[in-house]
Amino acid sequence: MAAPLVRIFSKSCRQISRPWGACQAGWRSRSTRSAPDVASDQAAGMVSFPPLQTYSEEESMMREAVKKYAQERIAPLVSKMDENSAMDEEVIKSLFEQGLMGIEIDPEYGGTGSSFFSSILVIEELAKVDPSVAVLCDIQNTLINTLFSKLGNPAQKEQYLTRLSTDMIGSFCLSEAESGSDAFSLKTRAEKHKDYYIINGSKMWISNAEHAGVFLVMANVDPSAGYRGITCFIVDRDTEGLEICKKENKLGLRASSTCPLNFDNVKVPEKNILGQIGHGYKYAIGMLNEGRIGIASQMLGLAQGCFDHTIPYTRQRIQFGKRIFDFQGLQHQIAHVATQIEAARLLTYNAARLKEAGRPFIKEACMAKYFTAEVATLTTSKCIEWMGGVGFTKDYPIEKYYRDCKIGTIYEGTTNIQLSSMAKFIDKEYDH
Ligand SMILES: Cc1cc2nc3c(=O)[nH]c(=O)nc-3n(C[C@H](O)[C@H](O)[C@H](O)COP(=O)(O)OP(=O)(O)OC[C@H]3O[C@@H](n4cnc5c(N)ncnc54)[C@H](O)[C@@H]3O)c2cc1C
Repeated sequence: MAAPLVRIFSKSCRQISRPWGACQAGWRSRSTRSAPDVASDQAAGMVSFPPLQTYSEEESMMREAVKKYAQERIAPLVSKMDENSAMDEEVIKSLFEQGLMGIEIDPEYGGTGSSFFSSILVIEELAKVDPSVAVLCDIQNTLINTLFSKLGNPAQKEQYLTRLSTDMIGSFCLSEAESGSDAFSLKTRAEKHKDYYIINGSKMWISNAEHAGVFLVMANVDPSAGYRGITCFIVDRDTEGLEICKKENKLGLRASSTCPLNFDNVKVPEKNILGQIGHGYKYAIGMLNEGRIGIASQMLGLAQGCFDHTIPYTRQRIQFGKRIFDFQGLQHQIAHVATQIEAARLLTYNAARLKEAGRPFIKEACMAKYFTAEVATLTTSKCIEWMGGVGFTKDYPIEKYYRDCKIGTIYEGTTNIQLSSMAKFIDKEYDH
């Protein structure tokens, strides 16, 4: 077993016991970034803006250590997990051990106490090696943990955040067979009885459901109020009447389970409502806005990982007496794709930094998600071409990246939905 990342990190941060615990330097760098007096400093000619690819000490260390962890602990299992359509239990265990399932959770609840941007870097590094592992980490950190941290009452936080940071996976349950892009036309119903609710209905496409211990379920308590009846319920896996159905047999992300769920008179105590009754739609919109930056990071990592596997091959493969990399026809394509990946990274990091700074970020998050999915599609397709016949076989990881990237244009809002959202912002910007 590889050395725990805690040792790497604790060199400069001895007071913590978990791999990614907050240290003085980390917190300092966050606070200075979020509230600089830019205007006055600028007027005094004192301000210099760091390039977007500038990392705090904590972020750099996380990035490097996750890169090493992914190479050592995940890479050897990727092909087998894809073939078997199953996430290796050891991978799940090690993600928790490394503190990567509770990156932003307060150390009070056993979490790492790090930042949103750190989560984005972690997702990117994991996706370079396996986008299925990346989405497991992404949903846990950007959707589930954030919902509990932002909306949970003290008892809910104590009960769930402590588990989510140490050994419990959570799933986010919004989509249904009849409501995908039109998510808030959902039909799952929660009917009030004394101090509990009875949930009936079904959900589709629920990521990580095979291993999840808790489900955040959007159900309507008052269909006459339309989407204003949608409420977020905490449903434990072992609740009677909850059925986790057979996982989908998918094109890509095969190691990540995606299951339908059935709710047959599922009794949920009133205390399991997360946040306020009727505010579920707001929470879902809010979380997905942030979550899109996570998916952008997944697609970015995927594209970079695929590129990194391919370029060395083009530098070794000899045809017509020279490296295929040396043909100008190939060089121009490679340079073009490298530029697209760089642009995708800047969009993603910018959206993440805007979000972290508390500034408007929704349009930028949509742009990042839309663009990175396009870039991942282009990159993986080109990489197969540059590898020739072997790129088309399962002897190399390229064809898997090609299959895995397609989901980027579908979940957490399809490409059309991202474009429509951006257009709404653009329209408003030209109101005056
Ligand atoms: C692998 C996987 C994992 C998922 N994980 C989760 C999860 O964990 N939790 C969860 O709740 N959901 C999850 N989803 C569901 C996912 O978010 C939906 O699939 C997605 O929102 C699209 O919905 P749909 O599949 O019903 O497609 P539809 O909404 O039917 O869309 C079909 C096509 O119509 C287009 N379209 C629809 N409406 C418009 C419009 N107004 N304007 C222009 N074009 C439009 C779409 O862009 C798309 O091209 C997952 C899906 C997959 C495949």
